[in-house]
Amino acid sequence: MKIHEYQAKALLQRYGVAVPRGVPCFSVEEAVAAGHTLGAGVRVVKAQIHAGGRGKGGGVKVVRTDDELETAARQILGMQLVTHQTGPHGQTVHRLLVEEGADIRQELYVGMVVDRNTQQVALMASAAGGMDIEEVAASHPEQIHTAQVDPGVGLRPEQAETLARQIGVPESLVGQARDLMLGLYRAFDDTDASLAEINPMAVTGDGKVLALDAKFNFDANALYRHEDIQAWRDLDEEDPNEIEASRFGLSYISLEGNIGCLVNGAGLAMATMDIVKLYGGNPANFLDVGGGATTEKVTEAFKLMLSNPGLKAILVNIFGGIMKCDVIAEGVVAAARQVRLAVPLVVRLEGTNVELGKQILADSGLPILSAVNMADAAAQVVAAARG
Ligand code: GDP
Ligand code: MN
Repeated sequence: MKIHEYQAKALLQRYGVAVPRGVPCFSVEEAVAAGHTLGAGVRVVKAQIHAGGRGKGGGVKVVRTDDELETAARQILGMQLVTHQTGPHGQTVHRLLVEEGADIRQELYVGMVVDRNTQQVALMASAAGGMDIEEVAASHPEQIHTAQVDPGVGLRPEQAETLARQIGVPESLVGQARDLMLGLYRAFDDTDASLAEINPMAVTGDGKVLALDAKFNFDANALYRHEDIQAWRDLDEEDPNEIEASRFGLSYISLEGNIGCLVNGAGLAMATMDIVKLYGGNPANFLDVGGGATTEKVTEAFKLMLSNPGLKAILVNIFGGIMKCDVIAEGVVAAARQVRLAVPLVVRLEGTNVELGKQILADSGLPILSAVNMADAAAQVVAAARG
């Protein structure tokens, strides 16, 4: 789960990380009032969406007067903000953060992720912070410095100090940068975060080290332990299909391609997407209907996939272990009838009662393409999607 920048900053503040004074706002009037509260001088109006790259997309404006502030708030609130992380349609801006401006001398990067290779948290830092960090990571990986955190010990102050020096924090401010990183680590660890980033971490003209931007992702499986963080969930920022899917107990993630995949089991769903790719196709979604795929669930799954206007074909790949193939086949037939399926449907069934299942598909009179194995299924569905 993701949260907004202003929420991430509130979280960091609890851990002693310095952030600019700021006020979250839901209307232009609130933004103007917030501007007054913050007082004259440079202020910043920032779009709050669950995606980065807002600066380059026109979602961050530095303003010098109340008039400029109002104009910026009017411009940004309600805009369809397109960044390299939102996809081509962008994301509607419903919230703003109005902050006091900072006199930035250096824009640095610090970020934390769970590093699956080392099974530890990795703290990364770079002198090349700001809006081009992805570019730096791709073309100058040597400019990213890393410290591995021993889970039994936590981030050690010396590790943070070393990183601070490696990224060029002035010696007199190394202590502040260290404390910021220690606070970031404690926040990350306490909240079961999977990613936390401060970019930029700014060194200011008045000798402060501040988090000017903040991003957190949390492990969804641990959210039951953090009611306060769950309360920050913003459904406006989530894919409506994914929200709908979660209501039916389906694990669904929209993707870019045109081949719908309906699979039982997350592992098989991943393997299915891999083999579709291998055969030259592109999955439109990840979808795991789980162990107890009822007709209702399968119907809902079909509806979700069909809500994508670009969908060209559907692949149903079921291994009937606990689930019986005949039950699944009945569900698929009923669902296909109910949604008046108009795109080609390839079905690969294997497992308990497979012959009975195949018979049900064949007897349905529906134009279902039956596959003998996964490779056959992938080849057929890719061909069908090409038309
Ligand atoms: P992102 O593009 O979504 O990552 O949004 P950021 O919050 O990182 O803002 C983008 C850029 O706006 C930063 O890299 C800064 O250069 C600039 N910026 C953000 N806050 C301030 C501020 O208080 N003062 C000034 N002068 N620039 C700021
Ligand atoms: Mn940023």
